[in-house]
Amino acid sequence: MLEVQAVRHLTPLMLRVTLAGDDLEGFISPGYGDHIKLFFSPLGEEPVLPTLGPDGVTFPEGRPRPEMRDYTPRKYHAATNTLDVDFVLHGDGPASSWAAQAAVGQKLVIGGPRGSMIVPDAFDWYLLAGDETALPAIGRRLEELPASSKVTAVIEVAGKEEEQTFDTKANVEIIWVHRNGLEPGNNDLLLRKIESLSLPEGDCYAFIASESGVSKAIREHLVDKRGLNNEWIKASGYWLRGVADAHEPH
Ligand SMILES: Cc1cc2nc3c(=O)[nH]c(=O)nc-3n(C[C@H](O)[C@H](O)[C@H](O)COP(=O)(O)OP(=O)(O)OC[C@H]3O[C@@H](n4cnc5c(N)ncnc54)[C@H](O)[C@@H]3O)c2cc1C
Repeated sequence: MLEVQAVRHLTPLMLRVTLAGDDLEGFISPGYGDHIKLFFSPLGEEPVLPTLGPDGVTFPEGRPRPEMRDYTPRKYHAATNTLDVDFVLHGDGPASSWAAQAAVGQKLVIGGPRGSMIVPDAFDWYLLAGDETALPAIGRRLEELPASSKVTAVIEVAGKEEEQTFDTKANVEIIWVHRNGLEPGNNDLLLRKIESLSLPEGDCYAFIASESGVSKAIREHLVDKRGLNNEWIKASGYWLRGVADAHEPH
């Protein structure tokens, strides 16, 4: 059970919520693709704390089961024992709606991460691609990669005002793709941009995170047309157009 310590806009549509609390002590998230579960009780109600028992997570009887959504632990600050989570303000949905009204002192329950995938730093180059929901993971990766690494990042956002800057030692080319009014998850801008790129030679590890159909199409292109090793591609659906609380195995 954590408390909101700070809320600030990184860009008009990306909100950073900093969470604090004794329960964060010892928080660990070694993988940039990690996710935590956020538990949302109906707005205005006291959050419900689940208990972890032999049958997994259970909730108190007689209270509505909270909505759960996956988010990237953007940055844990051990010195202050605080955790940053970056929310895309996309509109309706328990998570986006909660973030839009988040204020210092409010409570939020989180769980996880339950596991982490560690991608070696030894690949010749890295492709990081996705929409704004991938920015927290991509930002983490860019910040952690050593100076010797080579990265091409292709990121779709609403417009220039949604671009972010990252603190990185790596040799990074960031290519921003602007929707300029097109609907998120219902366009092929990211795929078309990747199709148009001349990609570096050598072994590549690709991380793709965006709307589910978009991520699938990019994986297919990378494997079928670019000859990338399917086992070295993590292409995740971070959300599914028109479907609330969509899930795919990760
Ligand atoms: C591993 C993982 C890590 C993630 N990390 C982050 C993160 O750090 N920050 C972040 O903002 N998101 C992240 N996401 C995506 C986030 O979990 C989804 O966007 C989620 O659906 C948001 O929940 P909601 O309650 O706001 O909307 P929901 O109730 O799930 O959906 C309501 C409606 O909104 C649509 N929708 C959902 N997300 C978007 C979107 N981004 N743009 C446009 N329409 C949308 C749905 O299709 C549906 O029609 C991550 C997802 C995964 C799987």
